[in-house]
Amino acid sequence: MLPTESIKRILSTALANGGDLAEVYLEDSQSLRLVLDDRKLEQAVRGNDIGGGVRVFYGNTAAYAYTDDVTEEALIEAARAAAAAARGTNQSRVSVDLTQRKSPLKSMVERPYDEMSTAAKADILRRMDEAARAVSPHVVQVGARYDEISRRVWIYNSDGVWAEDDRQMLEFMSQVTSQREGVIQSATAGLGAQSGLEFFDNRDPIAAIVQAAEATMRMLDAKPAPAGEMTVVIPGGWGGVLFHEACGHCMEADFITNGSSAYAGLVGERVGPDFLSAVDDGTIPNRRGTMRFDDEGTPTQRTVLIENGILKEYMWDLTEARRMGRASTGNGRRESFRHMPMPRMTNTFIDAGPHDPEEIISSVKKGIYAKRMGGGQVEIGRGDYVFAVTEGWLIEDGKLTAPVRGATLVGNGPQTLREIDMIGNDLDLDPGLGHCGKTQSAKVSVGQPTVRVPKLTVGGTE
Ligand SMILES: [Zn+2]
Repeated sequence: MLPTESIKRILSTALANGGDLAEVYLEDSQSLRLVLDDRKLEQAVRGNDIGGGVRVFYGNTAAYAYTDDVTEEALIEAARAAAAAARGTNQSRVSVDLTQRKSPLKSMVERPYDEMSTAAKADILRRMDEAARAVSPHVVQVGARYDEISRRVWIYNSDGVWAEDDRQMLEFMSQVTSQREGVIQSATAGLGAQSGLEFFDNRDPIAAIVQAAEATMRMLDAKPAPAGEMTVVIPGGWGGVLFHEACGHCMEADFITNGSSAYAGLVGERVGPDFLSAVDDGTIPNRRGTMRFDDEGTPTQRTVLIENGILKEYMWDLTEARRMGRASTGNGRRESFRHMPMPRMTNTFIDAGPHDPEEIISSVKKGIYAKRMGGGQVEIGRGDYVFAVTEGWLIEDGKLTAPVRGATLVGNGPQTLREIDMIGNDLDLDPGLGHCGKTQSAKVSVGQPTVRVPKLTVGGTE
């Protein structure tokens, strides 16, 4: 975006007051959003967000200044502002040798977004609306949204790092509400990937919203969920959101170094059964959390967090890694150039286990099958959680017998993880709807196989 000579001058200015490491981050994001609400298509919104920031590390602190003007002059100003906040010995002449890092990850886009007209994209939303309403006259509200985002980033630092990444994301989010005799039930569907228009070759947003509409119909017929302690089976795919929220955040290095995490100081200790392993992998093609380089220029990697029940590693960004004198794991992410990076998950999942998923359900005398998980509330770090089950099923004598509504799962992530007693061999990642909101928003993937928790508190409405 800028010549490397300009970048070198900006980095040199950033270190003029001392400082141990300087970084330049540049970003160019283009987006298109189409929203259909209550049968009306809103005006298409095109976004173009360009900017950059300069960060200076001094010891364990970092100062950051950013601008939406990506000229050398504006970034030199940002570098001076960041340098003013960092103190140290004067290094008036800093020479930086920038070497571009290469990534083995291939492009995830075959067919560019402009090969389909905006009208054709809007028509998909209209057909989603019609298909959802065709499920039943009790469907009273349908909302659908299409987003495409092309985000290019450039990262340079005074250790010689020069990394570029290009992230292209396509996604549909939709919501269906049904009502009958005073009972209201809603379900959401999300479908997304880092992909070009070949997205549509094997993903069907219309089928996804129909499934959500059908789920609301089953829930209108459902009886209230039982309450109390019982066995809970959580299916694969999106069910992994519970692990992400209630355990994954506890393994992010900022909560480890400040001591607020339940997993602080537990590397090498048992945190789950010996058939449980968990992974954060920023390199899986087409997933929402995938990057060639994170937002600090560190190559992403597959990090085994838990291996055979033993806690192995946390997720690190540069700030926390430097604090501990170790390497980053490629988990430094930021929402945009207006934000400083922090340790974030990428694609995080419980790995496949030894059990047959059919056998897991047939092993349950009485319990709840949490077929569709909704939103949750989690105390990040401690891992206390409350999750809504938007579609639940009663398990009786090893069979799914009846849909139940209004179930919530209440527990503590690290404790639930220790108590898991069966893990399926059916690992599945979510269909692409993960949004993580740890003060900054980030797109993530979650996943898991079918998992059985022998005793969990179910808040019901019965
Ligand atoms: Zn999260």
